[in-house]
Amino acid sequence: MRYGDVQRCLRVCRAGLLAALLAAPAGAGEPSVRPRPNILYIMADDHAAHAIGAYGSRVNKTPHIDRLAAEGIRFDRCYAVNSICTPSRASILTGKYSHKNGVPVFNRFDGSQPTVAKYLQAAGYFTGMFGKWHLGSDPTGFDRWMILPGQGVYHNPVFYSAEGRVDFQGYVTDIVTDLTIAFLDERPKDRPFFVMCHHKAPHRHWQPDAKHAETYGGGGIPEPATLRDDYAGRASAAREATMTVARHLNRRDLKLEPPAELKGADRERWLSAVPMEVTVEANGVRTTLTGDALLKWKYQRYMRDYLGCVASIDDNVGRLLAYLDRNGLAENTIVIYASDQGFFLGDHGWYDKRFMYEESIKMPFLVRWPGTAPPGSVQGAIALNIDIAPTFLEAAGLPIPPDIQGRSLAPLCRGERPADWRASWYYRYYHDPGHHNTRAHYGVGTETHKLLCFWKTDEWELYDLAKDPAELRNVFGDPAYADTVAALKAELRRLKAEVGDDDRYAHEQPPDGADAMPELLKKKAPAPPGAVR
Ligand code: CA
Repeated sequence: MRYGDVQRCLRVCRAGLLAALLAAPAGAGEPSVRPRPNILYIMADDHAAHAIGAYGSRVNKTPHIDRLAAEGIRFDRCYAVNSICTPSRASILTGKYSHKNGVPVFNRFDGSQPTVAKYLQAAGYFTGMFGKWHLGSDPTGFDRWMILPGQGVYHNPVFYSAEGRVDFQGYVTDIVTDLTIAFLDERPKDRPFFVMCHHKAPHRHWQPDAKHAETYGGGGIPEPATLRDDYAGRASAAREATMTVARHLNRRDLKLEPPAELKGADRERWLSAVPMEVTVEANGVRTTLTGDALLKWKYQRYMRDYLGCVASIDDNVGRLLAYLDRNGLAENTIVIYASDQGFFLGDHGWYDKRFMYEESIKMPFLVRWPGTAPPGSVQGAIALNIDIAPTFLEAAGLPIPPDIQGRSLAPLCRGERPADWRASWYYRYYHDPGHHNTRAHYGVGTETHKLLCFWKTDEWELYDLAKDPAELRNVFGDPAYADTVAALKAELRRLKAEVGDDDRYAHEQPPDGADAMPELLKKKAPAPPGAVR
C-alpha cells in the first residue's frame, strides 16, 4: 500500500467515525440505521429553464429531465447571485457570494477554502467531480475527479485528473456521463456518495453530436416575443451589450463554412466576423437573406444547435436515472438537475446571460428526493445557488458552518416555506466590459419586483414582474412607483450590508485565470477503466 493510500484510509476511518457520531440521534444509545442519502448533482452549462419541458418549454422536449420534475419538485425561482459560469460554480461549492469566495469574474478559485465537497468528504462521503470545472485551480475535496481544461471542447475532448491528461474519442456529454457512471461502479459500496456531473453543454459554440445535429433543424422553432426588443426606456447597458442574435453571432456560431482557399489567420478572421447577409439554397433556388429574414434564419440556426446540445444532455440524464434504477440506488439518492445560470434564447434579442433579467439569472432546479420532495410538486419561494451547499450538508446530517451565506433548501424541498424564508435577494455582476460589453450592476429582487442599479452611470431600472413578466417596461421613473423605488432602494442597501459586500471588487477585479492550462496536461495518465470511448 502506498503512503497516499494509507493516509486516505486513515482519513476515511476518522471521517467514518465522525459520520457515525453525527448520524446518531440525540440521546440514542446506538447510531441511526437509516443510511445517509447519496447525492447525484447533474449540472449543465447555460441551460435555460425555458428549454426544459417541465418548465413549459415552447421550443423543445426533454423527457428524461422532466422525469425528475414528475418524481420530485420543481423550483420556479432559483437564481444565480452572479449570472456567469465561473462565479456561479464558486458560489455553488462554497455557499457564498462572489465577494466572499473570491471569484467575481473568471479568476482562479482558491481551492484551500472550505467547500461542500470537503465537508462531505470529511464526513465519510465518497466524492467525485466530472466534466466542466472552469475554476482555474485543481478540484479539492474530491476522491476522484476528471475535468475539462478551461471550457473544454465538444468533440474528442481532453480531460485531466490528478494523474495527468486523458484523450477521449467521442462526444463530451456522453463522456462526462461515462465518467460519472464509472465512478458509481467503482465506489466503495459501504459509503454514501456525492458526485457532481458537470456538462459542458450547451455552452457556446453549441456543437451538437451527429445524432442530434438535425433534431431541431426543421426551421419551425417558435421565436420569443421579445426577439425584436428595442430596449426603449431601459438604461444604456442593454443597448451597449454585444450579444444580439441579429448583430453579434459570428460565422463560427452560425456554422457557416469558410471558403476552401482561406487558411490560417484569414480563415479565423472570416469565422470570427459577423455576417450581415447569408445566401441559402433550397430546392435549387439561392436566396440572399438580409434584415429581418436574416434575423429569423440566425435564430433558427442558433436554436437548432443549442437545442441539439440539450437533447444529448437529456439522453444522458436518462442514462444516469436508468443506472440508479438498475442498481437499486434510486430510493436513497437525491438527484438534482440544474444549470450554472440561465440563458437568453433570443429573449430581448440576445444570446448569453450576465444581466439580472429573468431568463439569465433563473437556474433550472429540479430535485428528486424520495421521501422528502412530494412528486410533481412546485416551489415558488426564492432559492439561490448559494443555498445548494447547505442543502447538501443538511441532507448528510451535517451542521451548516456559520460563514455559509446560503440557507438549506431542505424545507423548501418538502414543499414547505418557513415563515422567515427570504422575501428578497441580492444580485451582483462584475465582468465589465467582459466578453459582451456588459455593464457591471447590482440589484434586488422580490417575487413581484426587481430593481437594478448600473452604478457606474447611476442608471436604474425597475420592473413590475406581476404586470410585466417579460421585463419590457422600466417603471423606475413612473411616479406611481415612487414608494416601491424608495422601499427597494432601502432593501438593496440592507441586503448589500447583510451579505457583507464592501465593494472590494467594484473597481479592481482579479485577473482572468479560469482558463489557465494545468501542467498536468503535459503528462499522459492511464485512461480509467470503463471510461474509454
Ligand atoms: Ca454557464
